[in-house]
Amino acid sequence: MLFSQIPGLTGVKKQLIESVKSNHVAHAQLFAGKEGSANLAMALAFSTYLNCENPGEEDACGVCASCQKNMKYIHPDVNFVFPTSATTKFKREDATSEKFLVEWRAFLKKSIYGNVADWAMDFGWENKQLIIPRQESRNIVKALSLKAFEGTYKVMIIWLPETMNVNAANGILKILEEPPKNTIFLLVSNAPNLLLTTITSRTQQLNIPSFSDDDIFNVTKALEEVQITDDRASQIAYMAEGNMRLALELVHESDNETDDFFKNWMRQCFTYNFSELVQLADEFQKRGKGFQKELLDASSKTLRETLISTQNVDALSRVPDAEKGFIEKFGSVFSSEKIMEVVPKISEAYYHVERNANPKILFLDLSLGIAKVARS
Ligand SMILES: [Zn+2]
Repeated sequence: MLFSQIPGLTGVKKQLIESVKSNHVAHAQLFAGKEGSANLAMALAFSTYLNCENPGEEDACGVCASCQKNMKYIHPDVNFVFPTSATTKFKREDATSEKFLVEWRAFLKKSIYGNVADWAMDFGWENKQLIIPRQESRNIVKALSLKAFEGTYKVMIIWLPETMNVNAANGILKILEEPPKNTIFLLVSNAPNLLLTTITSRTQQLNIPSFSDDDIFNVTKALEEVQITDDRASQIAYMAEGNMRLALELVHESDNETDDFFKNWMRQCFTYNFSELVQLADEFQKRGKGFQKELLDASSKTLRETLISTQNVDALSRVPDAEKGFIEKFGSVFSSEKIMEVVPKISEAYYHVERNANPKILFLDLSLGIAKVARS
């Protein structure tokens, strides 16, 4: 990965390059960013830059032997640790990152903005909880005890350190505090608040901002495999709220699938059509977790927009034209008090979907809750 392959975020890139040039590279850095941000991509681009033989003002050269290897994620001095689960071949403790490097590299090439669920799904671990097991801390210490093979720096990238087993986290405290010379830890986290303070206090935190609407617009428009209109690209940028992963998912989804589902769902809630709601619950279950989360997310977003638009007409201006009509109509039948009752219910459902609650029961329960508010 090169800096130039990441859209925008010039400030962050500059700061990282400056640290190398001025010889002030912190030995343990925490790349904190929300899901769908460039935190992993940025750590990869930074590690390419660190060992580039001809680093430029704005990026690694991309052609030297070191860059070539880094761009394929096969540089011998760049180590990866990431959450895993047991397989038929490896028991939980033995299922450590180095056993899955082939799949990991393929995942990086395909879904650099992916989340842990994408990684799990890719591997066939979809219903498993992925963690970084205790054994991994021993492997980290061992890998870093060797001198760098080719590069100046030895880099240890830990993806989602928040999934570390407590013993694993405790097992790296010492080396994180005092790593061997020219060793750089890059912890890439989506939830730094879940990390032990003993870990965070040993790292220098770099916040990776979410992508701008413009960056998302440009990326989705530039895709070769799918052509979308400017309107759709704006709409996606607006819905994604800086989350590139979500934006790319939306591009590949047939037009407004969640939107249609949402509108139909609300209609059935308003009319209290129980048998139809049961069918929708089946459908909700069948479509999988990605869709479930997206639907709930889009629903609370639409409700919030409606709430704002009932109080302030100007706020409607950010909403794409296609959505305006619905939001206005929706606002006229659903008072702001009612919306304020429904939004927390949806957020709660989202929380439970993430934690693998039974989707069908959850959806039906939520629908009946909304129907009750609608008819009150
Ligand atoms: Zn290079």
